[in-house]
Amino acid sequence: MFYQTTIKTEREGFYELTEKVNDFVQKSGITEGICVIYTPHTTAAVTINENADATVQADLLLGLRKAFPFWQDFRHSEGNSPAHLKASAIGSSVTVIIHEGHLLLGTWQGIYLCEFDGPRERQCYVKIIAG
Ligand code: ZN
Repeated sequence: MFYQTTIKTEREGFYELTEKVNDFVQKSGITEGICVIYTPHTTAAVTINENADATVQADLLLGLRKAFPFWQDFRHSEGNSPAHLKASAIGSSVTVIIHEGHLLLGTWQGIYLCEFDGPRERQCYVKIIAG
């Protein structure tokens, strides 16, 4: 099964997809399998992290800004090389196991689209495979 969703981002940040992906799993009717969540962008990423305390997402952004600052030496003319670096570091997809009809996420885990260069309109593709 293949699904897609569009996320309109306002700025750099984490946009939770967990509920949407859960809806896709329910809609698919697949109770045992694999779910791949993928974003086809070069300055956005997908990750799994804590969704209980929003300060975790704020700290992740802070840490990424410190780890990937803007350097005058960058050559990319668009001027958003830090966003490209962050997207590559985080990655463009995650895979979650589906067991007994549910995503096997931990209690505090949520699935996020990470925007590093908003505002943009982002696509997220979800592939659900039985097995
Ligand atoms: Zn660029």
